[in-house]
Amino acid sequence: MTATLILGKDVSEEIYAELRQRIETLKAKGVTPGLAVVLVGDDPASQVYVRKKGEMCEELGMHSTIIRMPGDTTQEELMTKVNELNNDSAVHGFLVQLPLPAHLDEEQVINAISPSKDADCFHPSNVGRMLIGEPDFLPATPAGVQQMLIRSGIETAGKHVVVVGRSNIVGKPMSAMMIQKGAGADSTVTTVHSRTKDLAAITRQADILIVAIGKARFITKDMVKEGAVVIDVGTNRVEDPTHPKGSRLVGDVDFEEVKEVASYITPVPGGVGPMTICMLMANAVKAAERTMEVSE
Ligand code: NDP
Repeated sequence: MTATLILGKDVSEEIYAELRQRIETLKAKGVTPGLAVVLVGDDPASQVYVRKKGEMCEELGMHSTIIRMPGDTTQEELMTKVNELNNDSAVHGFLVQLPLPAHLDEEQVINAISPSKDADCFHPSNVGRMLIGEPDFLPATPAGVQQMLIRSGIETAGKHVVVVGRSNIVGKPMSAMMIQKGAGADSTVTTVHSRTKDLAAITRQADILIVAIGKARFITKDMVKEGAVVIDVGTNRVEDPTHPKGSRLVGDVDFEEVKEVASYITPVPGGVGPMTICMLMANAVKAAERTMEVSE
């Protein structure tokens, strides 16, 4: 068997088309959805992510603000900026690009973001709302994975979903979303992590295997059930002298091997990657729509 590919570009294009219509509707009512991104320091990967977010806003006709702060920004200066954005009516959603330089307290910053503008959905009150099944926003990467499943017509109800990884950004919210009632969920979920015993015995039971650990090609063919759906969130840079850059991106799944047993699989790059920015944009549009609901 060779698995069918699920491509983030295809799924995200479908969602962008829907977002464009929602943005038009907002603009017709005099509201241009605005997303702001705060970047502290000059981490090269973060700079690329932030630039891509700004470009996507512009492509969609959204208002984009990128605030670059120096690497030696103090906690107080950053908190002042967060407060300014909380009170800026042109900014419907914003995020502070993580990771922050080591001297800054990420938790304090996340807690200070107004939950109604929390485009990343990292604020504890939004995480809690998601957990009780009443989300205002959804965390971008897990929401992107869920959309890939829904829009590829993959049944999730009653299926055994195994999530590998338990980070606050991917693994935990992913598991919490898949146990909710409703479309793209209603699953029986097992979460495994670095302290799990006989992890392969559990991954082999998965109808849908979602992997987010940050370990290159960790999931091999023998860890996957014949016909399983495999979603690879991992992005790992490995050396490759044949590549012009001397390195390339691979996932947490051994793609070449696992595609022979899976029914569906996401490649890296080109799989989950494009979905994260897409769902971030969806959160910003939703935040703008909510301000209309409040004022109507
Ligand atoms: P974290 O490092 O925060 O978490 C990794 C998780 O994997 C932890 O829960 C850890 O377990 C678990 N883990 C690590 N090693 C093993 C192992 N050998 N066996 C089982 N579990 C293990 O990473 P993130 O969740 O932030 O990211 C995971 C991957 O996804 C990374 O490659 C990241 O780059 C990628 N990513 C991709 C995105 C995209 O848009 N495509 C967005 C976000 C992330 P424990 O808790 O026990 O330590």
